Amino acid sequence: MFMRDLRQRFYFAHSPVRGEIVQLTQTLNDIFNKHDYPLAIKRLLGELLTASVLLTATLKLEGRLSLQARGNGALKMMMAECNHHHEIRGIAQLDEQAIFAHDASLKSCLGEGILVITLEPEHGQRYQGVVSLEGETISQCLESYFSQSEQLPTRLWLASDATHAAGLLLQALPQNQDDEDEDRWPRVVQLTQTLKPEELLELSTDEVLYRLYHEESVTLPNAEQVTFACTCSRENTANALVSIGQAECDDIVAEQGDIRLNCQFCHTEYVFTARDVSQLFQRQVH
Ligand SMILES: [Zn+2]
Repeated sequence: MFMRDLRQRFYFAHSPVRGEIVQLTQTLNDIFNKHDYPLAIKRLLGELLTASVLLTATLKLEGRLSLQARGNGALKMMMAECNHHHEIRGIAQLDEQAIFAHDASLKSCLGEGILVITLEPEHGQRYQGVVSLEGETISQCLESYFSQSEQLPTRLWLASDATHAAGLLLQALPQNQDDEDEDRWPRVVQLTQTLKPEELLELSTDEVLYRLYHEESVTLPNAEQVTFACTCSRENTANALVSIGQAECDDIVAEQGDIRLNCQFCHTEYVFTARDVSQLFQRQVH
C-alpha cells in the first residue's frame, strides 16, 4: 500500500522544468460521501479537484485557489477549492432529473460555459481569470487559460475513475542563459504524453515518475498529504444571516420557528433560534 492522497513535487536537475503529481482517493470518498452524484459527475469533479491541488502547488500562495466551471447544460456548476495546507473541498450542482452517461464528456455535461479561476490570498488582492469551456477536457481548458494569459508554459494530465483521481503538471520556468539542456521541455512533455490514464491512476507516484523519466535526473522533495476540510463556520453563517437583514430573518423565524442552514460542501447544519437571531442583530446595533 502507498499513500494515496498526496501531492509530490519533482524537479529535473539543472533545468527550469518542474512538475507536480497528485493522487486522491480518501479525500474524494470524503467529498462524494455527502452527495449522491452520478458516476460521470464524480469523474469530472475528481479531475477538477485534482487540478485545483496541482495549480495551488505551482503558486507561492497563502490562501486559497478555486476552480469553478459554469454552463448551460444539465451539470450547472462544479467547483473545487484548495488552500496552501492542501485542504480541498468541492461541489457540483446538477439538474436532478438529468441522466448522465458514465463516460459523458465535459462539454456534454456542462454545455456552453466558462471556467473561472480565483485566487484569494490571505493578505492582498483577489485575482480572477476566466476562460471559455471550449476544450474537450478540463486539462485542455486549463492549458488554454495558461497560454491565453501568457503565463509560464504549462501542461496538465488528469485522470479520474470516480474512486481515484490523479494528475500531473509540468511547468517551464524562465530559461537561464547557461541552461545546458534546451530540449528538456519538449522532450519531457513528449515523454509524459506516453502516460496512459490508467497508469496515472493505478501506479504509485514514484512508479509513474520512474516509468516516465528514468533516463532523466529527477529530484523529489517530501510529498505533502492532501485532506478534505471545509472552511464553513457558525461565525461565517451568522455573517451571511446579517447580510440578509433582520426583516428577512425575522420572517423566517416567524414562519419556521428557527433558521436552519446547511453547508453545501460538508452538510453541517447551523441552527439559529429566535433568541440567536435577535442577539445577532442586537450585536450589530452596538
Ligand atoms: Zn462546510
